[in-house]
Amino acid sequence: MSSVESKKPLCPVCSQSDQVMAMQTAYDSGVGRCAPPDMPTRNISMMPYIIFSVIFVGICVVLILVLIGSESNIGGIAEGILIGLTLFSIITALSLSYYAFQRVVKGDNEATLLFPAWDQAMAVWRSLYYCKRDDAVFDPKSASVLTTTQVTALRTMEPGVVEAVTANIAQKQSV
Ligand SMILES: [Zn+2]
Repeated sequence: MSSVESKKPLCPVCSQSDQVMAMQTAYDSGVGRCAPPDMPTRNISMMPYIIFSVIFVGICVVLILVLIGSESNIGGIAEGILIGLTLFSIITALSLSYYAFQRVVKGDNEATLLFPAWDQAMAVWRSLYYCKRDDAVFDPKSASVLTTTQVTALRTMEPGVVEAVTANIAQKQSV
C-alpha cells in the first residue's frame, strides 16, 4: 500500500500529493467528471420498426378481413383491392425488416470504428490524476491541469480530443 502511496504524483496546483488520487478512485468517491470514457455501444433499437410493422400489418389484415366480409357487395373491385393491399403489406413488412437490419449492421460498424478511439481515450484517462484539494484533473508527466472542457471531451470521445490532449502534453514536455 505504501508503494502505491509513494507513486502518487505531485499536484501542479498545490505541489502536494496527499489529496492526489487516480481517476478511477476519484470517480468511485463521487467525482462525476472523473468518469472513464464512455464505451462505444450500438444504440440502435429495432423495437420502433418492429412495433410499426406489426401495427401496419395488423391494420392491413383488418382491412383485408373487412373487404372479405363485404366482398359479396363490391365484387371484382374488392378482389383487386384485396390483392393490392396484401402485396403492399408484404412489401412494406419486408422493406422495414431490411431497413432495420441495415441499421443494426451500420450501428455495429460505427461501434467498431469507435473502439480504437475509446482505447486511446482510456489510455489517456488512466494516465491522469485528480487532486481533491484543488478539484483539478492533471497530467503528471507534463504537470498540466486539464480544463473541464478537455475532461468532458475526453469522456465523450469528441473527434480529435485525444490528439489534442496528447499534443498539449507533448508540447509542454518539450519546453
Ligand atoms: Zn492540489
